Amino acid sequence: MVLIVGHFAAYDDVANAVLEKTLNTAGEVGYGFDVLAHRTNIGESMSIVNRLTSGRFAESFPPVCLDAMIGFGYDIHRLAEGESLVLGGVEIPSPHGTVAHSDGDVVLHALVDALLGALALGDIGEHFPDTDPKWKGAPSSLFVQHAVHLVQDSGHVIVNIDVSLVLQSPKILPYKQAMRECIAALTGLPLQRVSVKATTAERLGFAGRLEGVQAWVACEVRER
Ligand code: MG
Repeated sequence: MVLIVGHFAAYDDVANAVLEKTLNTAGEVGYGFDVLAHRTNIGESMSIVNRLTSGRFAESFPPVCLDAMIGFGYDIHRLAEGESLVLGGVEIPSPHGTVAHSDGDVVLHALVDALLGALALGDIGEHFPDTDPKWKGAPSSLFVQHAVHLVQDSGHVIVNIDVSLVLQSPKILPYKQAMRECIAALTGLPLQRVSVKATTAERLGFAGRLEGVQAWVACEVRER
């Protein structure tokens, strides 16, 4: 039996070359084989196997397919004068900040929900109820660390994180790099796997009137 594991989503060409060579070799020496696939482009792998084996293994392929899981999180907090504004773990000088039980970091709260969501582990409110005095004024980095440990303990790795933030003012541009660095440090990701994007609300609606701040976060999680 030949076991083939293609595990390099970012290197599909390499994985395909290995797959093709192994199948050719196995065919030449007359081995029977099964294929375990762990690939992004499963369709492409199937077409290679079917072509090289004249469809002999079409039904048994793939016996296992370990896919990426996408997580998505959203958070919103009210803004009020005199409160502190912490976004993506970075304290931002501002006349207005978030009203919240914890530090009101909508970016990290949405990130927690994205990480939990990828593995269907509930939401931030279930893990850190805002009725629990333990979390009053708590830094949201604690919540992220908890979610990251849950991901790791279940045998998964975070692949990337993409943040979108809506805040009318102040301008976020000077703080985006620091947010990326903070999120990368909290999640153990390299900086290039962490994206932080921000926009104003074009003075429209509650966000445009500086009544609230919102964040959306998407992430990908894979089995290790
Ligand atoms: Mg929140």
